[in-house]
Amino acid sequence: MEIEKLAPHIEEISRALGGKLSDEQIAEELQKYVDVYKLSIPVAKKTIVKKHGGDASEVSAGFQRKLVELRPSDPNVDFVAKVLSANTKEITVKGEKKSIIYGFLGDDTTTLPYTAWEIEDLTLQKGEVISVRGAYTKEYQGRVQVNFGNRVSIKKEDPSVIGDIQIAQGPPKIVTVSQLRESMGFVEIKGRILSVDSREVSVQGQAKNVWSGIIADETGKAQFSAWSDFKLKPGDVVRISKATVKAWRGIPQLTFDDRADLTKVMEKFPSAEELQQTGVSMVSEIAAMGGAADVTVRGVLVEIREGSGLIMRCPECKRALQKGTCKIHGRVEGFPDLRIKAMLDDGSGAVGVVMNRELTERLMNITLDESMQKAKESMNFDVVKDAMDDSLTLKLVTASGSITSDQYGLSMIVKDAQMAKVDVKEEAERVLVELEAQE
Ligand SMILES: [Zn+2]
Repeated sequence: MEIEKLAPHIEEISRALGGKLSDEQIAEELQKYVDVYKLSIPVAKKTIVKKHGGDASEVSAGFQRKLVELRPSDPNVDFVAKVLSANTKEITVKGEKKSIIYGFLGDDTTTLPYTAWEIEDLTLQKGEVISVRGAYTKEYQGRVQVNFGNRVSIKKEDPSVIGDIQIAQGPPKIVTVSQLRESMGFVEIKGRILSVDSREVSVQGQAKNVWSGIIADETGKAQFSAWSDFKLKPGDVVRISKATVKAWRGIPQLTFDDRADLTKVMEKFPSAEELQQTGVSMVSEIAAMGGAADVTVRGVLVEIREGSGLIMRCPECKRALQKGTCKIHGRVEGFPDLRIKAMLDDGSGAVGVVMNRELTERLMNITLDESMQKAKESMNFDVVKDAMDDSLTLKLVTASGSITSDQYGLSMIVKDAQMAKVDVKEEAERVLVELEAQE
C-alpha cells in the first residue's frame, strides 16, 4: 500500500495514541499489518492503537470500504454502494408490525445482501447510489450481510459515482486451497476429500445435517462443511463450484450447500498419502490466509516463553497454577506437568507454539519424573525452564497442527513436533541471517 494512502490513517492513529509513536513508526507498523499480515485497514488501525495502550474506539469511526472488504460481525461499517434491488416486507417483531426493506447492494468489487430494519424516513430505489455510515454486518451461510439499524445514516449520491454493476455474481473464482480467503464470493476448487463425517447441528432451532471434513490439493488442506448430502467419500476427487469461504478464528474453511455444483473428477490427482504429507508451509503464507488447518511449519525456536518448563496444574480444572494457586479454585494440591511455550520463526514470520508433556519429553529427551527429580535436587522449579532455554533456543523444529490467529498474532497447538534433521546450526544461522536481512 502506498504511503500517501495511509496518511489520513496515520494521523488518526497518532491522535488516538496522543503522539506516543512517531508518524514513521506508525507508518511502518501499519504497512506491516496491511501488506504482510493482510489485515484490513480498520482492523490494523485498531490493533496498533490497542497494542500501544490507546483507546481503539477512537479509530473505529468509519471511513469508506469496498463491499468486498466488509467482514462479518463488524458493528460499524461505512461504504458507498448502488442499490441493486429494494423490496419492502411487513414483519412482526415482539408483537408489533413493522416494515423492512431488503435487497442487494453492489459496488465495483462485489454484491451483498442488505436489510434495513428502521425505515421511518428511508426510501430506497433501485439504481440509487447511497453513501452509508454506521451500518453493521452479520454472516449467514458464509456470506456477509449488511444491516441498517437505528444508528445508520444514509445519503443519496450522484448515481454516476458507480456505473453499471453486474448483478449476477459472474463466474466463480477458480482457486487452490492456499488461495482461499474469507468473503471472496463464490469459488470453484478441485481437491481430494481426505476425510468426511456427518453430524447433526442445530441451526436457528432446526436440526440440520452437516458433512464436514478435510479437502486437499497440492497447495494445502482446508476444512469443509457441506450443508447438503453430496455423498462424499474419503478419497473422492471433486470439483466444487459456487462454494463460499468463511473463517473460523482466522482459518479459511470451504462451505457449500445445494446451490453448489459438485462433480467427481477422474483426472490424475495426487494420492491421499501424498496430500497428507503436503510439505512445509511458510508462516507468511499462513499469516496471509489468517490461519490454516493441519499444517507443518519449520523454523527456529527464537524464544522460550514464560510458563514453559515444569508447571503444576489444578486437579479440578487443569489450569496452570500460579504460586500454588488456581485462578478459579484457590490454593490446591497441584499435579506436575511439562510444557513448552515458544515463538517459532521461519524467517517469513513467527507463530506462537504450545507443546504438551509428550512432545516436551521428546524434544527435551527427559521425562516428567526426571524433571521432578532435578527440580527437587536443586530445590528450584525453574531449572527445567533454564534447561529448555539452553537446549531449545535457536534449535530448528518441525511442528504440525492447526494455526489460528487473533490480535496477538498466530498460534499453534502443536500436535506433532520433531527436531529437524538437518545441520541445525547451519540452518539456524541461515534463518537468522535472513531474519536480520529483513529488519
Ligand atoms: Zn482450578
